[in-house]
Amino acid sequence: MLVVMHANATPAQIDAVADRIRQLGYSPHVIPGALRTAIGITGNRGPEGRETLLMMPGVEDVVRITVGYKLVSRETHPEPSVFPIAGSRIGHGFTVIAGPCSVENEKMMIESAQFLSARGVKLMRAGAYKPRTSPYAFQGLGTEGLRILAQVKAETGLGIVTEVLDTDNVDRVEEVADVLQVGTRNMQNYALLRRLSKAGKPVLLKRGMAATVEEWLLAAEYLMSGGNRRVILCERGVRTFADHTRNTLDLSIVPVIKHLSHLPVLIDPSHGTGRAEYVPAMSRASLAAGADGLLVEVHPDPRSALSDGQQSLDFDAFTQLYASLKPLANVLDVELL
Ligand code: PEP
Ligand code: MN
Repeated sequence: MLVVMHANATPAQIDAVADRIRQLGYSPHVIPGALRTAIGITGNRGPEGRETLLMMPGVEDVVRITVGYKLVSRETHPEPSVFPIAGSRIGHGFTVIAGPCSVENEKMMIESAQFLSARGVKLMRAGAYKPRTSPYAFQGLGTEGLRILAQVKAETGLGIVTEVLDTDNVDRVEEVADVLQVGTRNMQNYALLRRLSKAGKPVLLKRGMAATVEEWLLAAEYLMSGGNRRVILCERGVRTFADHTRNTLDLSIVPVIKHLSHLPVLIDPSHGTGRAEYVPAMSRASLAAGADGLLVEVHPDPRSALSDGQQSLDFDAFTQLYASLKPLANVLDVELL
């Protein structure tokens, strides 16, 4: 259920409703809005308690939310969510997050960060912990990678988006990261999601490679129901019969997410296609489809990359891509960030 407060409801009335919801044995989630406050209710199985809540001062209506992903849904929060993070505003305009797949060494990280920062990029991606299909492949630099990320942040002011692989590492990664990435393989790692629901940093939740939209939004609900409001979705391609690209980038998910949820949705055209030469077209298509931004892999020398070199743009290709997004953003009247 969702309690819709009057536009002029007082803070004391809002508190009283939240207390009443707790007395009923449910959890209140206060959602301030531009015009009015709403209070999401979780933990209830049906409309029990609706009548008592309706009679409370300041309450305009109590509506049933029909979907399972209650806090994630548009029904609960009709306005799109916008999260200001490290000089960017995810959910407002089109935010380009770029960087190498992995933190490989200090030199390539500083070089990449300076390059991206000079182009106006505010958030850099790079993994210190890598979920690799083969146990023999480069697994990331771990704590040394986190040290390098902290240095990049201190030297360039860029915000850091980096993956957290397991519950044991959350504290350590959270110290450095501005956004905690959950990879496709971990989308349904509920222990990790529960832990991240208590994190003080926003979470970028990639879509599982075989996840339906409902499974994905329910994974986001794990994060939100534990108290983390700042959830960013990211489509990175799914498994299909098609083998002409690494994954099948499902751009049709963008209008669906916009319809069902208030959360921002980014596109990862790098993992979505697996080939650098296909990344620019799908990036422009993401902007045209109404996505909130990109998570794109960029490397100073893709041929020598320790992971995902084939799908990484070099600096020239990124410069060209960024330039090609500008006129399109102008036509669409979307701010490019
Ligand atoms: C990545 O972003 O480098 C990554 C491992 O992504 P995914 O979880 O989408 O495979
Ligand atoms: Mn990668």
